Amino acid sequence: MNETIPKYDVLIVGGGIVGTALLYTLSKYTDMKSVGLIEKYSDFGLVNSASYNNSQTLHFGDIETNYSIDKARNVKRMADMVMKYLESEKDYSSGKKLFSKYSKMVLAVGANQVQELKKRYPVFSELFPKLKMIERDEIGKIEPRVLEGRDPGQEILALVTEDGYTVDFKRLCHSFVDNALRKNPELDIHLDTKLIKISKNEDHYTVLTNKGEFKSSVVIIAAGGHSLMIAKSLGYGKNLAILSMAGSFYTTPKVLNGKVYTIQVPKLPFAAIHGDPEVHNEQITRFGPTAKPIFQLERHNMSTFLEYWKTFGLGLSPILSLLKIISDKILLNYILINFLYDLPFIGKRLFIREVRKIVPSLKLSELRYAKGIGGTRPQIVNNTTRKLEMGEAKLSGEKIIFNITPSPGASTCLGNAYSDTSLIIEFLDNKYKFNKEAFEKDLM
Ligand SMILES: Cc1cc2nc3c(=O)[nH]c(=O)nc-3n(C[C@H](O)[C@H](O)[C@H](O)COP(=O)(O)OP(=O)(O)OC[C@H]3O[C@@H](n4cnc5c(N)ncnc54)[C@H](O)[C@@H]3O)c2cc1C
Repeated sequence: MNETIPKYDVLIVGGGIVGTALLYTLSKYTDMKSVGLIEKYSDFGLVNSASYNNSQTLHFGDIETNYSIDKARNVKRMADMVMKYLESEKDYSSGKKLFSKYSKMVLAVGANQVQELKKRYPVFSELFPKLKMIERDEIGKIEPRVLEGRDPGQEILALVTEDGYTVDFKRLCHSFVDNALRKNPELDIHLDTKLIKISKNEDHYTVLTNKGEFKSSVVIIAAGGHSLMIAKSLGYGKNLAILSMAGSFYTTPKVLNGKVYTIQVPKLPFAAIHGDPEVHNEQITRFGPTAKPIFQLERHNMSTFLEYWKTFGLGLSPILSLLKIISDKILLNYILINFLYDLPFIGKRLFIREVRKIVPSLKLSELRYAKGIGGTRPQIVNNTTRKLEMGEAKLSGEKIIFNITPSPGASTCLGNAYSDTSLIIEFLDNKYKFNKEAFEKDLM
């Protein structure tokens, strides 16, 4: 073996929230020292984990009406871990808190939605005891602009809680890395280092990058949509493709005091439009995200166009899956209208109809398209079932894991790190110890 090539026990590829949460967990809760991380850009969290690319929300499942109770239970367990981390840590450079807290509510408008929310409440309030069901007057006290200009005859109802966490997930990436380095100064972190090719040797992987070769017994790919492309290069995930769902946002001056969600259309895997205070400027309210398919693995980065098609696959199968998925009228209509939201002039005039479900008196002049804002969600298409799969996908192979993380991947990052760490320990034949008791005591 060439002595100059570093060889790790674990190499993490990708320095977004998923990769850095794992780096933190390995450093703080295991006795493993030989860990590396490579990130192709010059900083952590510059892709989907950047604050301008996502909705900045710690999702628990209490006001996300597209979540079943089982999904909410699962997401809450993992979001609680992030919440506990946020509550106990500060940003090292500024000493400031890593989050802001607001009220959050889901608003039902019209008799059908009100009925639906009433049915949901007894089930969800057991899991979320702080969730309160409130009527018009109370809604108006918390969010006056939700009532202003609204037809007094229109039925409305809301579920509300005080636990609305707004998070800059890029800053959280930095906090994870800072804390990881404090615990294990031997960590080997390489920015501006892009995985170009990965190959499997007898007892290790060789990762070729623009900065040379790395060797590692175990590799964890946390590269967003690129994870599937890398998986396919090693023969994994051949029956999967990606539908890359870009999300855009509109902004207004402050019209809400906290987060206000709308009721989800059940068939859609994407969050319904919501209004949130901007993480670094509460004088701005952000509405979105929209959802439209793009042929790129990274938004606003045309160099990922070819990579998208490598990931999608060029055979007939992914095309048939896609046709089957969009033959669903609800989804097709949704996608078409979402394309229009990004267009100049007409987009704003259509999108305001969604925003007015939350803020009826909003003026067109108050609404602005947030140019260059919004990332893309790598939604998995299963070519065997020809269905769109909701949530994250984890492919586990021979001493390798691929994490593909659409929303709410930032909220579940520590839960994901917990399960990856357990697998890594197995991959390394229990040579190292994962102090689960300490993890659970601190974060569960
Ligand atoms: C519009 C929108 C709204 C969202 N809102 C929320 C929300 O409110 N709450 C929530 O929890 N989640 C939300 N999400 C989802 C969340 O942003 C993602 O799940 C999360 O950021 C994924 O983290 P990641 O680390 O997997 O990916 P990323 O943050 O994209 O990081 C992947 C990293 O891998 C690196 N990489 C890729 N290829 C290579 C390579 N070849 N070599 C080296 N490095 C490489 C990239 O540069 C990048 O830094 C939203 C997503 C979108 C698009």
